[in-house]
Parts: sequence; C-alpha cells; structure tokens
Amino acid sequence: MLLCLLSLVGLAGLSCRQRDHAPAMHDSGFTEVMGTFAHFVVVTEDEPTARKCFDTALQECIRIDNRMSDYKADSELSAVNRSAFEKAVPVSQELYHLIETSLDYSKRTEGAFDITIGPLVDLWRKAGAEQRQPSQEELNVARAKVGSDKLILDPANHSIRFAVKGMRLDLGGIAKGYAIDRAVQAIKDTGALGGLADIGGDLKCFGMPPPGKQYWTIGLQDPQKEEDILLKLGLNEIAVATSGDYRRFILVGPQRHSHIINPATRDSAKGLTSVTVIAPSAVDADALATAVTVLGADKGLHLIETIPGAEAILIPSDTSNRLLWTKGAVEYIAK
Ligand code: AMP
Ligand code: MG
Repeated sequence: MLLCLLSLVGLAGLSCRQRDHAPAMHDSGFTEVMGTFAHFVVVTEDEPTARKCFDTALQECIRIDNRMSDYKADSELSAVNRSAFEKAVPVSQELYHLIETSLDYSKRTEGAFDITIGPLVDLWRKAGAEQRQPSQEELNVARAKVGSDKLILDPANHSIRFAVKGMRLDLGGIAKGYAIDRAVQAIKDTGALGGLADIGGDLKCFGMPPPGKQYWTIGLQDPQKEEDILLKLGLNEIAVATSGDYRRFILVGPQRHSHIINPATRDSAKGLTSVTVIAPSAVDADALATAVTVLGADKGLHLIETIPGAEAILIPSDTSNRLLWTKGAVEYIAK
C-alpha cells in the first residue's frame, strides 16, 4: 500500500535509448490510480511497444479499481456492500475469486487478515476525524459486524451474502497486489522483455532487468527519514509489498494509529512500523504484509517461514531502526 519502496531503476530517467532494436529501459513516470501512484518500467526493443505496455498496464489497474474499490459508489464491491444483507449479490468471477483468496488468507493467518474489517476501519477513521477514542460500545457494535464466518459465498451462483446487517467488505489490503499481478501480465502479453509494475510502492518485476544490470534493484525506505534508503533489494520474477504505519495513519490527539486494524483487539495494529514481504505473486505479498502487521514480529516471522518462496523484513516500532528478517531474506539484499 505504501510508497515506501523506491524504484531505483526509475530514477535513471524516462528512457535509456540505445541503437534501434537493442533492448532499452523505458519508464512511464507516476500516474494517480487506486488512491495512490502507479509507475511502470519496461525493457523493450522499441519505444512504441513500451508505450503500449504502459497503456495496457494502466488500463488494467483502472479496470480493477472500478470493480473492487469500496470508495467508488458504482463499483461491483460497493453493490455488494449496499445490498448483500438483504439479498445474495452475484458478482464477476474475478471479484468472487479475490474474495475466496481473501478468505483463504483469513484461515492461514488465524483471522489476522480479514476483508470484513470495514466497520472497524470506518469507526477508527471517524474517530480520527473527530479527534476522539472510539467508545467500548462503538467498538462492540462495529466488531459484531466483522468476521469472515459472517460472509456467505455461493460458488454455484458466484454470489455474496452478509449474515449480519451493516457488514462492509474492504479489499484495501489485497486489491493493489492483485492489480500489480494483472498489470505485469498485461506488460508481458504486450511484448516487453522485462518489466516492473509499482502501485503505491508495492511491486512485481519479471524478465530481463534494465540493460547492464543483473537484477531489478529497489530501495527499502527508512521510516524515520523518507529520503534515506535502509537497504537495497536485488529482485527478479518476484513481488514485494510493504505495509507501514509511517505514511498512512490515523491521528487521535498525539497518538498515531495504524490504518490496519487487529480484528482480535479491535484496535489499530501495534508493534511494527514497516513490514515488507517478498513473495512470488503480488497478491500474496500484499495480503501477507497486512497480516504480518497484525500478527506482530514473532508470529509474523513464523508464518512467513512456513510459506514456500516467501520472505519478510520487519522494522519494529521502537526508534532503533533495527531490522528483523526471515532466514532467506538475506539472499535478496543487494550488495
Ligand atoms: P496495506 O497497506 O496493504 O497493508 O492495506 C491496508 C488497508 O487494508 C487498510 O487501509 C484497510 O483498507 C485494509 N485493512 C485494515 N485492516 C485490515 C485487516 N486486518 N485485514 C485486511 N485488510 C485490512
Ligand atoms: Mg496489503
């Protein structure tokens, strides 16, 4: 979600043109989409192909946002949120599958990742806007509308139903990852030799890295000092997502609350300032980064160690900027 991973390759400028038909790197620059900024980098043999890649990748992000945003009143997700208590709402195969994937993540994370979190997210946002702590009564009322067990899926009709009035789905912890995977697929299908799709600092890269480079290099931003980079990661055919409380948060008085809510405590997630997850797909990296933020360092690292191909790098909320990571994460740290 957060723009805390800086694409170093992108800093090289719009395009490093070489002689015709030699693979060259092209950079789209940043475009606003999904409530944040997206940025694509491709390696192609000519500039028209690069431009086509940028266009198809961006169109894919816009299409997914139009379907899955809970901010847009005319999205498919908003139709579910409006009516799924009164009646079962049939949805597209694409949305149905992402909801199924989300439920799978709820199971795998002991409920830490939960797309039914909407009523608690709303309550904390309101508390931030009104500069007050939510009352126990308000927290109880919102919590009663949260829980994956209250979400009823009908695989035969691809329909969604809520068991409790006032439930609200929020795909904010997973939809960007999904869009990144789809954008990368669009870039591949349009003929790029390699590429990278970045939405709000979460990203996936594939194929040929920029000419002269061994891999795609990205920087992990220092939460204390935006312009500083804590370490560089060397990547290929892999996704990276970061959840953090230092860019997007809710302020109640002087107290900073993460925008990620722990369904078990009903409070904002505590203990980790930044959680970076490396995984083969961006949808997995995105959901896992949100889940680990809720689970905390011990349980979170343990979970990631059990998932083949996944690694994590965590920054605890103290001011030491001490890093914690899974055993295999060191393989990705660029010298
Ligand atoms: P991310 O930055 O990818 O970790 O996503 C954060 C967003 O996910 C929040 O802004 C909410 O929209 C949503 N969210 C908050 N708490 C949770 C949770 N426990 N499980 C799933 N999504 C959540
Ligand atoms: Mg996430």
